[in-house]
Amino acid sequence: MRVEVTEKTPQKLLTKASGFLKGYTHTLNPYIGCAFGCSYCYVRQSPVGLFRKQEWGTWVDVKKDVKEKLAKEMRLLRKKEQPISIFMSSSTDPYQPVEHKEEVTRTQLEVMAEEPPDFLFVQTRSPLVTRDIDILKKLGDRVMVSITIETDLEEVRKRFSPSAPPIPARLKALKILHKEGIPTQVAIAPALPFSEEFALKLKGIVDRVCVDDFTGDGSGGKRTARLGVYEKYETEEKAKWVEGNVQQEVFEVMRTVFPEEQVIQSPDGFFPPKV
Ligand code: SF4
Repeated sequence: MRVEVTEKTPQKLLTKASGFLKGYTHTLNPYIGCAFGCSYCYVRQSPVGLFRKQEWGTWVDVKKDVKEKLAKEMRLLRKKEQPISIFMSSSTDPYQPVEHKEEVTRTQLEVMAEEPPDFLFVQTRSPLVTRDIDILKKLGDRVMVSITIETDLEEVRKRFSPSAPPIPARLKALKILHKEGIPTQVAIAPALPFSEEFALKLKGIVDRVCVDDFTGDGSGGKRTARLGVYEKYETEEKAKWVEGNVQQEVFEVMRTVFPEEQVIQSPDGFFPPKV
């Protein structure tokens, strides 16, 4: 699908966190819009998605002049002696395709390596995050990289998010990050039908497993229904994966491989790890 890329110069980069991200002080979005265009994306129904004429997934605004601006905002917060914990990103993917060329996320990470927050949570679906291992390492245990893997089945991934990166590449990225000593999480969010081997495929490559379902869409699943996502399920999948207690079932499957403290249900699974 063709993606229209435009440029924006925002006044401010850090936004005060609210709602299900209240475990953070701020959110940081390097882009507006997202080329991955997942069918279930809750941003489709937020002002960012609704007030735009083009369809979600077909446009991206690149934030320009971020380096000095972000450094200034970080210094200002530090001066106020406020804690700074950042969720990157809440309404875009920081490692979507345009990041290869634009490097807005990389630039923001470079700033944070110089002006470190107390904690940075990097949430993505893209293996491109491994490009920035050199900077992520500088943040030590102040960072966690969370890669969404909703299913281990490519057929299912293609049904729900055909433009998002393939699952094997995401698993490989987690493996590389983990081997490099970067704190990692898999976000099974939203959990989609997966194979019996899924939990074993994740073993040894993540420090934490976050489990979520469509009830985590901020409206108990109603937003997801409005997006027509439930129609993407095969008839035989519906009883278990739509009508069942998906979050609890997936939690129990993951608990067969991971210890209790490593499997966390949403929204806690998106909060900074307890130390
Ligand atoms: S990657 Fe995230 S922000 Fe982008 S479309 Fe998918 S769910 Fe939405």
